[in-house]
Amino acid sequence: MTLLETLILCVVWGGDEFTILIENPSSRVDIEKFANRLLQQFTRSFIVDSHELRIGASIGISVYPDDADSVETLMVNADVAMYSAKEKGVGYQFFEARMKEATGNQLGLENDLHSALANDELFLPYQPKIELNTGKMVGAEVLLRWQHPVLGLVSPVQFIPLDEETGLIIPIGHWVLETACRNLALWRKKGLSPINLAVNVSVKQFQSVNFTKQVKKVIEDTSIDPKHLELEVTESLLMDTESTSIETMTNLKEMGISIAIDDFGTGYSSLQYLSKFPIDYLKIDRSFVMGLDTSGKSIAIIRAIIAMAQGLGLEVIAEGVEDEAQARLLREFGCQLAQGFLYSRPLKESDFIKHLEPQCLKDNNLIFLQR
Ligand code: C2E
Ligand code: CA
Ligand code: CA
Repeated sequence: MTLLETLILCVVWGGDEFTILIENPSSRVDIEKFANRLLQQFTRSFIVDSHELRIGASIGISVYPDDADSVETLMVNADVAMYSAKEKGVGYQFFEARMKEATGNQLGLENDLHSALANDELFLPYQPKIELNTGKMVGAEVLLRWQHPVLGLVSPVQFIPLDEETGLIIPIGHWVLETACRNLALWRKKGLSPINLAVNVSVKQFQSVNFTKQVKKVIEDTSIDPKHLELEVTESLLMDTESTSIETMTNLKEMGISIAIDDFGTGYSSLQYLSKFPIDYLKIDRSFVMGLDTSGKSIAIIRAIIAMAQGLGLEVIAEGVEDEAQARLLREFGCQLAQGFLYSRPLKESDFIKHLEPQCLKDNNLIFLQR
């Protein structure tokens, strides 16, 4: 069967997943040859809207009747093999029984996540954001944690991608926003000094129907001043000039909310996209800050980002600042804000609010400056 004839049997299985049925292949070598020809197609770039785009593919293969004798199990096994191919960065993988053990943990996590919210297992630590010139805390980023009943503390790096895949990011993301705003209002009521809170919003959540309405409702319900709320979104959102993302961002800005582009420099946003969106902050990704003391390239990239941000009237936040040498260089280059272990790790709420007490504010600012 030719590549074209087989592709006609290709079925869209998910947003970016496809199923291909190969009938009666004569051997595994034949299947391998086919997978390689398919992958070969992705070595070429695609022109979309006059932009050159490159995409990749990972292929998982399960064979009837060796791997399963029902359509459902064949599909599940191909999916498991596909994740294994993706993880290893190899183009294709045949299914092997041991792969299921490896993903068993992931599947378990996925099931547990459904009840994490209801069982009160999620909580939010806060990481201070510091003004580099004064050492003063000017805000904090809200980060999500999951206290799993058996596995202990699970990092968002492990479960946010699962949230995205299952769609759970929408209710969980909403909970993060609501809890952060409720706490902001509560601290204010306790007479603590007001602070800006930055909440991470995934692309899926940002583009969900009614996102602006939901944010508006949370602000109304909690009666917080929207100028104290920042939303952090990733660069991939900037690629999406066709959809309603610009409109959503504009509406949020009109409400008084600030927008930050997270992990800046790691995505593919072009400068043209950057100028189209109503953004307030660029967050320089930790990978560049890490190389500041050793890599001339990181220095060049950071200087370029700061110069560009200044030209566009945006503020720059450096992420992952771990030592004084990095902080000194960032100050020298004109970066205004920083976050990182040098100043503070993410703090649980009870520790974080100690920095908000008006009477010890001065002392704590000094601590951040000296560390
Ligand atoms: P991010 O938004 O880039 O968050 C910064 C991450 O860097 C945090 O990891 C923080 O603990 C860590 N970090 C901060 N300073 C330093 C430093 O000096 N050195 C090092 N090595 N690390 C530092 P965390 O909390 O594990 O979060 C990881 C990612 O998970 C976040 O990256 C964000 O993409 C995602 N995430 C966290 N909370 C949420 C959330 O509520 N919603 C969404 N959609 N994503 C979230
Ligand atoms: Ca962030
Ligand atoms: Ca980041």
